[in-house]
Amino acid sequence: MAVLVTGGAGYIGSHTIAALQERGEEVIIVDNLQQGHKEALLGGKLYVGDLRDGEFLDVVFKENDIDAVIHFAANSLVGESMKLPGKYYHNNVYGTLCLLEKMNEHGTRKIVFSSTAATYGEPENVPIDEFDRTLPTNAYGETKLAMEKMMKWFDSAHGISYISLRYFNAAGAHESGRIGEDHSPETHLIPIVLEAALGKRPHISVFGDDYSTADGTCIRDYVHVSDLADAHILAVDKLRGGSSSSIYNLGNGRGYSVKEVIDIARSVTGRDIKAVIEPRREGDPAVLVASSERARNELGWKPSRSGLEDIIKSAWKWHEANPNGYQK
Ligand code: UDP
Repeated sequence: MAVLVTGGAGYIGSHTIAALQERGEEVIIVDNLQQGHKEALLGGKLYVGDLRDGEFLDVVFKENDIDAVIHFAANSLVGESMKLPGKYYHNNVYGTLCLLEKMNEHGTRKIVFSSTAATYGEPENVPIDEFDRTLPTNAYGETKLAMEKMMKWFDSAHGISYISLRYFNAAGAHESGRIGEDHSPETHLIPIVLEAALGKRPHISVFGDDYSTADGTCIRDYVHVSDLADAHILAVDKLRGGSSSSIYNLGNGRGYSVKEVIDIARSVTGRDIKAVIEPRREGDPAVLVASSERARNELGWKPSRSGLEDIIKSAWKWHEANPNGYQK
């Protein structure tokens, strides 16, 4: 039995593949390599193509004995989604529809889904739990919520069980130093701060310091990418054990402001990192902090790299050794 990882050449996908390989799973990867990197794959059998191409997916399902899918393939930038919502609906929502239809056709009945805290929007409660209201403030979150809902109906109609993992802010890099975060263009806070530390950028722009938080900057819950990878494997195991569908938040339950992230990065890198205050970024909620009690209790998830200093240290190890990412 093999696990199909869609979007496996991306940041969280590649770390999950590394974890799957460590436990001896057969791994099949589908990636259109629009954003992913071949070099990020430490193993597995890669099919280069798009989920929206039915004939291509038929080949992947026919050539392999796939019992579970881990679905990462998606566009995931909040800012871009506000400018190009059609791109997000087409790739994320329609891409997921194509995948679910092919899973149904080929008899694959388990899927672990890469979801996001952006499904909640501006939270009613902090920390956020899975029963809180979902009212996304950006098109990216809206598409991820639509994908989750689609899975619910495919479950009730076709018996495809799903576990949706709503991650808060993924950060850090694999302990081997062989894989890490490399987006083009980079929009995420920690890699951008570290690029400023490397001198690749003159400064970090802080998007808004007039939020109603202690220092006025946005608060996020940062979680190590390898802890996220572990959660996907626990979710596959749970579905293989016959569990019904479920949704879990993944975060450390502790929020850090943008200014705090920059301060910790200054101390980890020992470099001067210039910060410039700029206007708010459209679509950003002020505070996103997870309650992950459910994942801890029901999945048995125990994030083991939870301090932000350690997360930034592991990201810094990757960025310092690979200042141009996978491009040597
Ligand atoms: N952010 C920032 N400057 C940047 C990139 C991000 O101030 O150059 C802020 C952003 O507004 C948000 C936080 O950092 O409050 C985390 O943003 P990121 O894009 O890393 O993740 P998101 O929360 O959007 O998933």
